[in-house]
Amino acid sequence: RAKAHARNSVQAYRPELTQAVKQRFELTHALRHANEAAQFRLEYQPQVRLSDGALIGAEALLRWRHPTRGPISPMEFIPLAEETGLIIPIGRWVLETACAQAARWQGVPGKPQQVAVNVSARQLRQADFIQTVDFILAETGCPAHALELEVTESLLLEDAEGAIELLGALKSRGVRVAIDDFGTGYSSLSYLRRMPVNTLKIDRSFVSELGQDANVAAIARTVIVLARSLHLDVLAEGVETAEQAAWLQREGCDWAQGWHYGRPMPAEDFAVIQQVLPVGPKLAVVKRLQLA
Ligand code: C2E
Ligand code: MG
Ligand code: MG
Ligand code: MG
Repeated sequence: RAKAHARNSVQAYRPELTQAVKQRFELTHALRHANEAAQFRLEYQPQVRLSDGALIGAEALLRWRHPTRGPISPMEFIPLAEETGLIIPIGRWVLETACAQAARWQGVPGKPQQVAVNVSARQLRQADFIQTVDFILAETGCPAHALELEVTESLLLEDAEGAIELLGALKSRGVRVAIDDFGTGYSSLSYLRRMPVNTLKIDRSFVSELGQDANVAAIARTVIVLARSLHLDVLAEGVETAEQAAWLQREGCDWAQGWHYGRPMPAEDFAVIQQVLPVGPKLAVVKRLQLA
């Protein structure tokens, strides 16, 4: 009775709430059919070596074009996909598509030789996750070392022992692991030491405020020092200016990703780079493509 009453009062006093529920329901329905309707595609954002700007890899980022609403941000639909469990089939499609792309790029000059794929906690906790990765690597012909999986700090904290085992299984196959958005969660340093990961990705929020906030610079510097002392690679995300890039390089950060180097783009655009400029300053071309 109390529940029924609560529901009625919601309808009586908060019509915008039922509107939100309705929208959510509709979006879930659309998301459920998005894959078979071929509304998903991947874009790839260049990852470069700071010292010379060489292209080393690319992060695969999921894009959804809704039939009526147009492009919807992953910030909006990924959480919904996680809550509804749709992230399982969607995430599998992402992994398959990115690995197939990485396999095609292998050994070709001017193409990313490593592809980073975001995986959600729910995906990783699937009992058959490792088998799925094995299957997809074999199916696509993607070498294990060409795949990096991006996981979040929260996943590592929720079940540290489980995470150590899972990441160890990936590592033994040669699959690389990065901690995404590092610094925004609550990583315990002692856990971090035990986690078989390869890369820390400094969150964009720290990079974007480097010039404005001394505390932010201190955090970024600390992450770089931490990574180096644990013998991990460190990549800064969201690098938008030459000043940020110079600061990061000076502080000992190895890799970067951000609009300063290239926006996320269709895989074919990397092909253009190779045709236009087989060797040399690829980055200038990446940037020119964004303007075109
Ligand atoms: P993320 O993994 O931290 O990805 C980086 C986000 O920052 C991307 O947003 C990228 O477009 C954006 N970005 C990159 N460089 C810059 C820059 O210089 N400036 C600014 N302002 N932004 C930059 P996007 O593509 O909207 O993705 C948002 C988030 O959605 C991702 O954050 C990731 O957590 C999630 N996501 C995207 N694709 C997938 C996927 O296939 N699976 C899962 N589970 N999550 C995904
Ligand atoms: Mg990521
Ligand atoms: Mg990130
Ligand atoms: Mg981020």
